[in-house]
Formats: sequence, structure tokens, C-alpha cells
Amino acid sequence: MQMSGISSWRQRERIQMPVYTDAAALRAVEDRLRALPPLVFADEARRLKSELAAVSRGQAFLLQGGDCAESFEQFGTEQVRDFFKVILQMAMVLTYGAKVPVVKVGRIAGQFAKPRSAPTETVNDVELPSYRGDIINGFDFSEAARAPDPNRMIEAYTQAAATLNLLRGLSKGGFADVNKVHAWTLDWTAEDKAADYRAIAGALQDTLDFIRAAGLSPRKAEELATVDFYSSHEALLLEYEEGLTRVDPQTGDLVAGSGHLIWIGDRTRQPDGAHVEFCRQVINPIGLKCGPTTSNEDLKVLIDKLMGGNLDDAGRLMLITRFGADNVEDHLPRLIDTVEEMGAKVVWTCDPMHGNTIKSATGYKTRPFENVLKEVQEFFRIHAAKGTVPGGVHFEMTGQDVTECTGGLRALTDEDLSDRYHTACDPRLNASQALELAFLVNQLMRN
Ligand code: PEP
Ligand code: MN
Repeated sequence: MQMSGISSWRQRERIQMPVYTDAAALRAVEDRLRALPPLVFADEARRLKSELAAVSRGQAFLLQGGDCAESFEQFGTEQVRDFFKVILQMAMVLTYGAKVPVVKVGRIAGQFAKPRSAPTETVNDVELPSYRGDIINGFDFSEAARAPDPNRMIEAYTQAAATLNLLRGLSKGGFADVNKVHAWTLDWTAEDKAADYRAIAGALQDTLDFIRAAGLSPRKAEELATVDFYSSHEALLLEYEEGLTRVDPQTGDLVAGSGHLIWIGDRTRQPDGAHVEFCRQVINPIGLKCGPTTSNEDLKVLIDKLMGGNLDDAGRLMLITRFGADNVEDHLPRLIDTVEEMGAKVVWTCDPMHGNTIKSATGYKTRPFENVLKEVQEFFRIHAAKGTVPGGVHFEMTGQDVTECTGGLRALTDEDLSDRYHTACDPRLNASQALELAFLVNQLMRN
């Protein structure tokens, strides 16, 4: 049967998705998802798209960040709130540097499904399916945990809904009020960065006081009292994505209701693959990870498909480059040339995490802070040379004091990694490292 519309991905090869053995249970979950309210709405996705269009022109800067994989077990109010605090601090530092608005997007409220390099994992001669994220199977190394269970999609939806509810409260309920900049600090960030942050916060406070004293009250009080915060995740598990897709009754457009922005991973960007087939049909902004194996030819086809042939549709497509610090020079210029030759209006953003993962001497997967920074520096340097816009950054980070990436001001070493290594998947910058990076990016933007 030839399926059309939003189900057409089902005719394509099933890459990086689990095979569910209980077809009836899967159908019941899909029916349930179709009946539940979407998590985000068409006009929100359109607003993000217009903000990203400004990013593509250099009139705004994108800050996207969050966990590699959200976890059911580690979910909690404090964990979300601390993450939000760090993002607000970073955004303020970046706004100060760039003198343009910062568009804030979390890898959150849906970032549950993970592509893996191998389908199975062997420990002490026992071979089991790889962990693919809490929306698919469990992290424990047991046969029961590793079996894909479609009911996990409902738990993921529930957690995503609770997370977004909290984020909406934090963004709009007063917590994000610029007048409270001093309250966003986390007590354990490295002292010198905390001091730098206090200096910027103090300068901002002076400006606000001046505006008030001069009687130039901000146009609308709520403009400074609230922020817009958007959700994003990799659209990997397409049953979940399709189940939350809705038709906008106003326009007839298809909208992914799972998050404001969804992206296609480096392993699932085959031009004729299922993930591209799904994403090309929804109106949300779409991210596309581009790595060393992204060919110029594939990129052209992907841009055409994902922009629906409308290369002027700024804000629709975000290219998230992730090459590894030493490989940026080999690949970014050729991809920029390809996009420029086509005349496509894309958002360029830098993911300095996924090309810089190494195994530490102590056996942990880690990312050296200096390599993460170097990839960002290369990104800015090459865009400056090409005259194109370095639109933003994409980090794996947390508000918690974890020890997963080495380096940074507190100089975490390989030996420190075992202290608080909590990630369910890739190593994240801790809040101190994330804030430090924001200060360094701020400097790059001033150059
Ligand atoms: C990710 O963003 O967590 C990820 C798996 O990235 P990539 O597809 O770029 O490897
Ligand atoms: Mn990751």
C-alpha cells in the first residue's frame, strides 16, 4: 500500500528505530498519542521560525542547549530550573556581546530517543540491544530493560508536558524577569566566571535603574519580565512524532506537536530516508546535522527537499555543523560554498560537541573543553572569512555540577570524571563550563 501524507515515512527504510514486537501495544500507543493534546502549537512554531529568520540575517543569535538524552529517573523541578537558570545567564552574557536578541531553544521536553553506533552491546560475553533512550528502552543492562516498549512513549509525552509546563511558568511567571538577573546564579559556578557574570548583571541593573530614573520606562513592563523559550529534540522515533502531528485548522498545515523545532541527526539524514520524508512535511523549523560525511551533493538535495524548493524561506532550515575541532577547515568552507551557490537562506549553527567525543584514559566518554572551544572559534573564523553569518551555538549541557567534560576553569581531569558522571548518553558541559563558554563566545562575537 502506498501511504501518502504524514505516514509516508513508513514506506522508507527503518533506520535507528526499534522493531516493536507487540504490534497491538504499539497501535494502542499511537492511537493514544493521536488523541492527546499537542505539546506545542502552530503559531509558536511560526514565531520561532520568524526569529530564526532574523538569526539567518545576523539580527539575532541562537543559543540551543540541553541534555544529550533526557532521563525519566533524573527528571525533577530543580534539574529543569537549574538548567533554565544557566540558559538565562548564558543568554544575557551573549546579548551583551552580540548586542542582538538571543533566541533561546532547549534540547528539552522531547529529547529522549538516541541513535547508536552499534545495535547491540556486549558486556562480559552477554550481548544485549543497545540503550536507545528512555522513550525506547531502559538503561539497565538486562534483557527486560533493553526490550523496546512502546508504552515508554506515553511516559515521555507526560514528562515532556510537565517539563514544558514548568518552563512556561518560569519564562512567563516572573522568574525570568531581567530585574532578577542576580537571582539566576548557581552557587557552585567557578568563582571568576561568577564574578564576571555579576559584573555584567550589575551593569545591566545600572542601565535599568537609569531608564527608570530618566522616566523612560520600558515600553511594556512584560517585555523585560518574560522571555520566550522554545523546545527542540531530534525527531528520531517517528511513531511518536507522527502521533503528535496535527493539522492546523486555520491553514491546513501539518505541525509537529512534539516540540517547536525538530532536527534530523547525522546518522538519519539519508536524502531518501524516513526522517527526511517525515520532516519535509511539517511546517516547524527543521535542523539538519552536518558532519564530515555530509557530501555537497547530498546537502543540495537535502536543502531542496527540506525547504520545499523555496530557498528564500529563511528560518525554515538550520544547518547544525559538527565536524570535530581539527576538521572544521576541511568541511565547513565547502558546505558554505554549496549553500551560497544555491542561494539558500539557512541558519548556520555550531555543535562543537559531537565531533569532539573521545575516550578518556580512565575509560569515560568525554569531551575536552579546549576542543569544544576550538570548534566554535573555527566556526566564527571561517564564517568571517566567507562573509556568511555564524548564527548560533548548540551545546550539550546541564545545570547540574557534573563531571563529564574535561577542562574549563576548574580544570577537570580524567581522574575527576568518575566523581559525578551522570549522563545517560554523551558527556555534557556542567553549568560552570557552559557559562564559561558563553563568555568566550561573547568575546568571539565582539571581534
Ligand atoms: C545528538 O545531538 O545528540 C546527536 C546524536 O548528534 P549527531 O546526530 O550530530 O551525532
Ligand atoms: Mn549527544
